[in-house]
Amino acid sequence: MIDTIIIERLREIVGVKYVTNNKEDLYIYTKDPGASLPRPVDFVVMPHTKEEIQEIIKLANDKKISITPMGGGLTLSGLVIPIKGGIVIDMKRMDKILEINESSRYVVLEAGVTIGKLLSYLRQHHPQLEPPVPDAPPSATVAGNVLIHGSGYLSQRHGDHGSMINGLEVVLPTGEICNLGSCALSDYWFSKGPLPDFIGLFTSSFGILGIVTKLSIRLFPRSKYRDVVFGLLKDPRDIPEVLLEITAVNIAEDILLGMQDKPAWMKGYFFLMTYITGDSEEDIQRQTKILKKIYHKNKCRFMKVPEKFHRSYMEKPIFAAAAADFRKGGGFEYVGAFIPLEKVPDAYLRGAEISRKYGLIPTIGSRLMSGIHTVVVFFTYSFNRASAEDMATARKALHDTNKLTIELGGIPWKAELDGQKIILENLDSGYKSLLKKIKDTIDPNGIMNPGNWEVL
Ligand SMILES: Cc1cc2nc3c(=O)[nH]c(=O)nc-3n(C[C@H](O)[C@H](O)[C@H](O)COP(=O)(O)OP(=O)(O)OC[C@H]3O[C@@H](n4cnc5c(N)ncnc54)[C@H](O)[C@@H]3O)c2cc1C
Repeated sequence: MIDTIIIERLREIVGVKYVTNNKEDLYIYTKDPGASLPRPVDFVVMPHTKEEIQEIIKLANDKKISITPMGGGLTLSGLVIPIKGGIVIDMKRMDKILEINESSRYVVLEAGVTIGKLLSYLRQHHPQLEPPVPDAPPSATVAGNVLIHGSGYLSQRHGDHGSMINGLEVVLPTGEICNLGSCALSDYWFSKGPLPDFIGLFTSSFGILGIVTKLSIRLFPRSKYRDVVFGLLKDPRDIPEVLLEITAVNIAEDILLGMQDKPAWMKGYFFLMTYITGDSEEDIQRQTKILKKIYHKNKCRFMKVPEKFHRSYMEKPIFAAAAADFRKGGGFEYVGAFIPLEKVPDAYLRGAEISRKYGLIPTIGSRLMSGIHTVVVFFTYSFNRASAEDMATARKALHDTNKLTIELGGIPWKAELDGQKIILENLDSGYKSLLKKIKDTIDPNGIMNPGNWEVL
């Protein structure tokens, strides 16, 4: 009975075509591409406007039913699979690019705009500008990515993608709309501050405090020339020094590091890829020379990238999934861990031990952000999606890796439920109490994505 009342009301709000509770339609929303177990979903709704979202939230408060916002659903860590059932709000119909400001270099867009759409729009209409882009599939949303502190090839120079947010329009769990950032006061969505900064409440909080409907993110000038300087290190203890020297000369656009025991020629090595950009071929040659010198001094063997790999290495985004050791059934998930530089050698050595313990081929990558200030390490585990046993093994490896991350003084990124529990067990008690107070105040009925970051 209650289901009938809810579905009827949702139909009135968004139109019959954009809401469902058919088992077959819901199936895809009960899981994601990662190793999480499926969880039930009761309704999926696809709103077109913020006013429709306000009405859905009003209904959820009336009926005490949970809401989970979803962009592309590609975090891999089960973040858009509701923990307590209820309504999934699929944002994909809110897909308008609203403004490009070339002079202050930002874009204002609706929260359902995908990275693929923004990239192709800019290439066509503003080819001199580029957005922050993760190495995720193009159907990931810009909002979903920046709201979880994603990262990409601009992160070396400009930090994680969360730090590139200028402003947000948010529908709060009470249904009120609020603008955050310079747009709270100005027609220009050009800056975060200087106002008390509440944008942070909505980043990495996984939708527990509101639904972002509109946002502004920074754009950056697109360089004419770009290349990658590839090197191989034998001993992981040499990693911090070479990275300190590269970042000190301040020429890298992006720095990737990794180990994978496949293909065979990479086994036993740590690869380093420093991307450089410039206005001319000479610029690139000059920077390559500097990097070769640094590599040589730090026991990192320079290697010319074979032509067949060069093209794929230069793609933006890189086809990251190609790096994983895919097995039959094609599943993979990783713990992304923000780690301090001095712990990177341990992260690689101990991460590889976890893989071997579970009979998996070590596949670990990392990206440097804001110079040297954070290294995000991706401990990747592949599995056969058709094998429950294989997926359970991946979950055990992810669990061990979350614990390792904390032991190393790091922080699991976009943590799945198990990772959130481990974080909460170790979190400062004052922080936990503040989190609970904020959640209880902003969302008195506990309707927004309950179960995530839940302080009991
Ligand atoms: C092959 C592959 C490679 C990847 N490489 C990278 C990479 O290089 N860098 C990187 O950063 N990530 C990477 N990822 C991880 C992930 O895909 C991205 O971060 C992606 O951008 C997440 O966006 P999404 O739209 O799928 O978010 P979703 O999974 O839909 O949502 C993410 C979180 O944000 C919340 N949310 C979504 N929309 C809203 C909203 N409007 N309001 C409030 N909360 C909302 C959701 O509830 C969820 O908690 C990769 C993933 C894959 C599969």
